[in-house]
Amino acid sequence: MNIILMGLPGAGKGTQAERIVQEFHIPHISTGDMFRAAVKNETPLGLEAKSYMDKGLLVPDEVTIGIVKERLAQDDCKKGFLLDGFPRTVPQAEALTETLKELGRGIDHVIHIDVERGSLIERLTGRWICPVCGASYHTLFNPPKTAGVCDKDGGVLYQRDDDKPEVVTQRLDVNIAQAQPLIDYYSKQGLLRTINGEQDIQVVFAEIASLLRG
Ligand code: ADP
Ligand code: AMP
Ligand code: ZN
Repeated sequence: MNIILMGLPGAGKGTQAERIVQEFHIPHISTGDMFRAAVKNETPLGLEAKSYMDKGLLVPDEVTIGIVKERLAQDDCKKGFLLDGFPRTVPQAEALTETLKELGRGIDHVIHIDVERGSLIERLTGRWICPVCGASYHTLFNPPKTAGVCDKDGGVLYQRDDDKPEVVTQRLDVNIAQAQPLIDYYSKQGLLRTINGEQDIQVVFAEIASLLRG
């Protein structure tokens, strides 16, 4: 099963991706996670990506398309994949269609998690991440059992630099500007399914799972 998970920053893509890959046994490909790993390891890709990420801007299409192409060519993607946070622009979507065509494959589902801008700000500024497994928590909406510590592995939770209020607004505006053309792109292909992301995490997951089980 080849799936795209779409939604603005804070919509709940990472939260749902964690549950989807566990249930459907496919690799989770998050361009944001890949960039953050590169930044942490101080690779040339990381150094380039960081300058955009810190400002809440998108990393240029050529760079982003390049890393996804490489990742999709790996063996574990043969059984399917879940793309989280890619594509984010129409040129990225077109490049993905082309790449999959070359591999003799296509997209099965595009799931759009829809959430209001006001809720997104609240979610992003209260988000805490586990450095060990990448799980997303929220101080109010999805708190860990022990404050500041991951339920699964005891990792000490941290806040992303780009979740600071100054950067959050810019990220949302940049992503909102790209969102509609992308929605139109997949809508025209009859692939887009929109889920109300304002509901509880478990309810959102139940709706996604039912859609994927078809
Ligand atoms: P994304 O990957 O789309 O940027 P996350 O999955 O990291 O978003 O979620 C952003 C924040 O919102 C996290 O703090 C997460 O715990 C919280 N969250 C996710 N889904 C919901 C939901 N349905 N209701 C309330 N809060 C949520
Ligand atoms: P995310 O973890 O998905 O919120 O992404 C964090 C940051 O990584 C974004 O603000 C962008 O700077 C960059 N990024 C992630 N995915 C993409 C993408 N598909 N295109 C361009 N930039 C991206
Ligand atoms: Zn963890």
